[in-house]
Amino acid sequence: MIDESRLLNQFLDLARISSPSGGEGPVADAIAAVLTALGMAVERDAAGNLLSRLDGVGEPLLLTAHMDTVGPCENVTPVVRDGVVYSDGTTILGADDKAGVAVILEVLRCLTEGEDAHRPVDVLFTVREEVGLEGAKAFDTSQLRARMGIGLDHGGEQGTVVVSAPSQNALQATVHGKMAHAGANPELGLNAIRVAAEAIAAMPLGRIDEETTANIGIIAGGTATNIVPDRVEIQGEARSRSEAKLQTQTEAMVRALEERAQANGARVDIEVTRQYDPYRLGAEDPVVALVTGAMRSVGIEPIMVATGGGSDANVFNAAGVATVQISCGMAEVHTCEEHVALADMVSTARIVLACLRPGA
Ligand SMILES: [Zn+2]
Repeated sequence: MIDESRLLNQFLDLARISSPSGGEGPVADAIAAVLTALGMAVERDAAGNLLSRLDGVGEPLLLTAHMDTVGPCENVTPVVRDGVVYSDGTTILGADDKAGVAVILEVLRCLTEGEDAHRPVDVLFTVREEVGLEGAKAFDTSQLRARMGIGLDHGGEQGTVVVSAPSQNALQATVHGKMAHAGANPELGLNAIRVAAEAIAAMPLGRIDEETTANIGIIAGGTATNIVPDRVEIQGEARSRSEAKLQTQTEAMVRALEERAQANGARVDIEVTRQYDPYRLGAEDPVVALVTGAMRSVGIEPIMVATGGGSDANVFNAAGVATVQISCGMAEVHTCEEHVALADMVSTARIVLACLRPGA
């Protein structure tokens, strides 16, 4: 039986523990203590990810959430108003993704205290999700028995199932110009900021189409107003749920840099790195059928969505563990207005429990 106040208190306990990316130790200890008290063995890998397993009958299912949060996350003071948990307004709340962690722990409590048969469960709590899915990438997925998974790391209405997510390329470029005294002899210099600006202005950026986006997010260069700058560093990204469109977009950004550098007689070093791979699941995929069937069985109509963001699910899908993200009710994440309704966490726990019925 789901215990609403136990679930709420678990969430509040986790929210109060600061857990920036790379600083998940204390919250991981708290989570491990809960698992241990439930009689579940906990393994912590070199990256800090927590893996635990519960035996059962039927096909195993992965349940996963991440333990880190974005900032500001020091001294989070959760406040409950009308069944909704907020921070006190000075920090994030960390429902992204502690709402997911709390739901999974409540589900495990229900399974271990109940008599009913359930599927075997692999439970994975990752580190460093918010800084590029680094925990999931470092995790050895051969440790998992499950070939299907449910991630509890998404917002939106109850019933939201993320069945498709983009791949992402990161772009890092350095434009090399030539330094000169800006007042005495500017004609001897080559302004790297100018070249970078022309290149960025020539790039298609922002929303490219329904499934493709691109951004230049960081530009840094120059040292003084009286020096023609000889070096600018640019960092950006492109994402698409279409591999072909991602390639086209990435090439357009690279070409803009190369063309503007060449036209100005400057040099540019460009590095493109794949951040994560896309995934696309359909209604016919077993994990989607499982989750949508479970939602309907508890009276929630599934809403299948494609997202523009990557998550740990991208990494697990690429490793052959078909994983969807479902909403656990988190809202306005990555802001100080972040909140989550207890009723949404409860209904998420109901959905996950329904997924774990052996015949489901
Ligand atoms: Zn998240």
